[in-house]
Amino acid sequence: MKHAKRLDLVPPYLFAEIDKKRNEAIAKGIDVINLGIGDPDLPTPSGIIDAMKKALDDPKNHNYPPYEGTDKYKEASAKFYEKRFGIKLDYKTEILAIIGSKEGLAHLPFAFVDEGDYTLVPDPAYPVYKVATQFAGGIPYTMPLLEENGFLPDLTKIPTEIAKKSKIMFLNYPNNPTGAMATKEFYEEAVQFAKKYDILICSDLAYSEQYYDDYKPLSILEIEGSKDVCIELNSLSKSFNMTGWRVGFAGGNAEAISALGKLKNNVDSGVFKAIQCAGIEALENFEKYTKQVTKVYQPRRDVVIEGLNSLGWNIKPAKATFYIWFPVPKGYNSTEFSALMLDKAGIVLPAGVGYGEYGEGYVRIALTASEDRLKEAIQRMRDNNIRFA
Ligand code: PLP
Repeated sequence: MKHAKRLDLVPPYLFAEIDKKRNEAIAKGIDVINLGIGDPDLPTPSGIIDAMKKALDDPKNHNYPPYEGTDKYKEASAKFYEKRFGIKLDYKTEILAIIGSKEGLAHLPFAFVDEGDYTLVPDPAYPVYKVATQFAGGIPYTMPLLEENGFLPDLTKIPTEIAKKSKIMFLNYPNNPTGAMATKEFYEEAVQFAKKYDILICSDLAYSEQYYDDYKPLSILEIEGSKDVCIELNSLSKSFNMTGWRVGFAGGNAEAISALGKLKNNVDSGVFKAIQCAGIEALENFEKYTKQVTKVYQPRRDVVIEGLNSLGWNIKPAKATFYIWFPVPKGYNSTEFSALMLDKAGIVLPAGVGYGEYGEGYVRIALTASEDRLKEAIQRMRDNNIRFA
């Protein structure tokens, strides 16, 4: 059977490769510590589960949902924005329910990119921006995220010819995989750039509630005039331990929301209403739930940072996300170091190059294991003399 050529554009899905390696190690009887995929290890808060249970018993929730989201869900999303970021969004025209942010990201280029158009894609990055662009017939233009620039793209390096042909700029702060945060100045510059070249900025805000100390992440919609050129994708996955539920929302520019909605109307049939009820419970009580969900990560982060630094690394604590992005020791590339960690220490962690060529030289730890397991991971590194040199 001959599949479409576009599938040949796709590298093996990063986490599929990791899963395969992990399964092989488990089959060999190795006690694997999985710090690979960014999937919270703790359950969804019980109040959110209860809201879903209640909604399940109501037959009104069993049929097709309104494709764009129920009014109540969209209102809860708008209220969350106002309370969390001080931004007013009209729930009727500026909010759209999505089936997790991956779905929104994957469909957006089909609404905005024609054959041969460019999108501006950070590297390293969540792989969907690039692949979705290619599926839609577009050409991803790489914006390197370099440590010396705080993992922010240097917009002055984008050639004018490319900028003129670009339809979407993808941004993701707090950032996966680097843990970096965007500054207000950077967002201001990005909004000006997007206005100059008539580009839609798609801000992927999947990690907005995973932050430490006093570093509360911004929404790009806080920037004056941003609504003219920005759409922001929000997910309940990481903020509320709801990765399996598949629910999020897009907010921002009404034309962009409407275009994405039109595309989606012809592809999917929205988010199950009972899940939207759970989403309402989460969003209306986000302060309570996100505190509960994300408070576990700071001590875990500290265990890993202190541990790695005791093994020769010199890593500053991440300000946000549940990822630690750190350089591999000299003499290894990221794939080799990732293989070494699995073979010698039974630790699964993705090679940075899986997030793009500028991820080479780094690996990522997801803080999705208990403090004890993380301490054990560090101990295994110490026992096997895996150090930064
Ligand atoms: N965006 C980024 C940067 C991510 O890291 C992820 C998941 O890991 C997603 C989007 C997708 O999240 P979801 O589809 O669960 O909302």
